[in-house]
Amino acid sequence: MTEPAVRVVDLRKIHGAGGVTVPALDGVTLDFPPGTFTAIMGPSGSGKSTLAQCAAGLDRPTSGDVTIDGVLLNALNETELTLFRRERIGFVFQAFNLLPSLTAEQNVTLPLRLAGLRPVPATARAALATVGLADRVGHRPSELSGGQQQRVAIARALVTAPAIVFADEPTGALDSNSGREVLSLLRSLVDDHHQTVIMVTHDPVAAARADRVVFLSDGRVAGEEAGVTPEWIARRVAGWDGAR
Ligand code: ADP
Ligand code: MG
Repeated sequence: MTEPAVRVVDLRKIHGAGGVTVPALDGVTLDFPPGTFTAIMGPSGSGKSTLAQCAAGLDRPTSGDVTIDGVLLNALNETELTLFRRERIGFVFQAFNLLPSLTAEQNVTLPLRLAGLRPVPATARAALATVGLADRVGHRPSELSGGQQQRVAIARALVTAPAIVFADEPTGALDSNSGREVLSLLRSLVDDHHQTVIMVTHDPVAAARADRVVFLSDGRVAGEEAGVTPEWIARRVAGWDGAR
């Protein structure tokens, strides 16, 4: 059997020290096979972002194991974790998180420059071509639409050829057309480039583009389904977060 791209075992995270503590993850065990697209859904506050942050090495779990590409993150010190994250993990945020003063090309190559490399222009061009923005290398974020900015952020996440791309509500700030474009792009990364993608989303239409949907509830895995339609997912999540 192939090793999972990402494995989390009995992951627990208690936010806040002393005083009032909130258990955000309460024993989550999941495998994410290479070249698959997984959506994570759950009511607001169910631990989706905490799971993504802990699995991506952006936050430390209280206990439990995270293994990415065969490397146990728990065993890494802060410096090692930072280096590993830079080289092996891509993260896409709802709010794009591009640097406004940098061009698309400079934003995309930033992870490489932070890693001490001096990327040739062709590197950024290739990453931007993958997301359909070959003609926007010199544009700054303010000169791009929201959907284009998110595609630059995806190119930035891909530029180091990471083992895994995490996306936390990547379409949450986009209109539905731009959102569809971003989802098609994530889907094609998996289908055409064998990328592994884990996406947190509220949107049944977005989740249905994934191979598998994992449902979280109160920091635990409450079920998973493969190959389900938006309508099936919409029924499954009906009643979460009020009228959604
Ligand atoms: P989701 O992304 O599913 O909405 P989160 O992972 O953001 O959920 O949050 C899970 C729980 O942990 C919530 O109760 C939230 O209030 C709490 N939480 C998240 N981040 C922090 C933090 N930095 N400090 C304290 N509590 C937090
Ligand atoms: Mg969240």
